[in-house]
Amino acid sequence: MRLVLYIDMDCFFAACEEVRHPEFKGKPLIVGTNSEKDRLRGVVQAANYEARKFGIHSAMPTRDAFKLCKELQYSPPDDLYYEETSKRIMELLSGYAKRIEVDSIDEAALEVEVEGYAEALEEGRRIKEQIKKDLGLPCTIGISTGKVIAKMVCDSAKPDGIKAVEANDVKDFLKDKDVERIPGVGKKTAEKLAALKVKDIGGLAKTDPMVLIDALGSFGRELFLIANGTDESIVEENVSVISISRERTLERNAQSIGEIEGMVNKLADEVIAEVKKQKLMFKSVGVKARYVDFTDRIKSRSLNSYTDSRDSLLAVANQLFKGLFGDKPVRKIGIRVSSLISVKGQRSLL
Ligand SMILES: [Mg+2]
Repeated sequence: MRLVLYIDMDCFFAACEEVRHPEFKGKPLIVGTNSEKDRLRGVVQAANYEARKFGIHSAMPTRDAFKLCKELQYSPPDDLYYEETSKRIMELLSGYAKRIEVDSIDEAALEVEVEGYAEALEEGRRIKEQIKKDLGLPCTIGISTGKVIAKMVCDSAKPDGIKAVEANDVKDFLKDKDVERIPGVGKKTAEKLAALKVKDIGGLAKTDPMVLIDALGSFGRELFLIANGTDESIVEENVSVISISRERTLERNAQSIGEIEGMVNKLADEVIAEVKKQKLMFKSVGVKARYVDFTDRIKSRSLNSYTDSRDSLLAVANQLFKGLFGDKPVRKIGIRVSSLISVKGQRSLL
């Protein structure tokens, strides 16, 4: 059966800072928006659980946070570091999934093909262990039939938790929850629902779907289905159709792979620089050779997981190029990466 594992890193930015500053561990910590010097003029981007105990939360002015807790530790933000860490996480996750949808810098939905919920839980525990071991970071995983409900299960299992809600139990799991707990339901939608006397998801489930559609359009239909335990959302890979490639004519025609080594390195550097600049990862590598008679040959291979690693690209490209040398000298070579996934995500203040 097909199930969705929703992974959300716990207090992501703060946890990243705790990894490289172990002295912060166990103490209340916030990551703000400003430099250390200007810390009282910014807002809280992330607070660890120790800081949350003082009532500190994201989007709060840092000045107020320091009023709530005198011993509060402060870290300025380091977007590059969080993005790099995020890439490592998504790379690791993509190795486990049939499909992966990156939802934000620290959240992703994985579609897995399993025998049942027990196997999905096992897989989830393996993922949690590996993220802890490789990156030192805690996360929470929610498992259900669709993306929206899996995310809600994940929210209910925080922090450092894992939980599955089977299809038959979804309605019961949801019924007492506030409508605003459904991803995509903001203040405006909640107000419209309140006008219909709908407060919790149980109430939503019992409302006439035509009334909901009247008030909210097709979103009303979706909400009705979710409230009744039917999650039609599917995991959609954020894959773009484009590829990134670089090619160059050789100064001298080449008869063997040894003669193109320098150029392969150079092209790989250029491709990787572009991949990083666009905040992408790739899963397919292709190489091309143009021979002296102007015929082309192309070889490509899919990798096991998404990556932006130069070493992985070089290893595969060199392997593939080996198969392109024979009797005809090569005059031009190219490297291409495709099956690209965007790891930009939107910034979520969690
Ligand atoms: Mg998070």
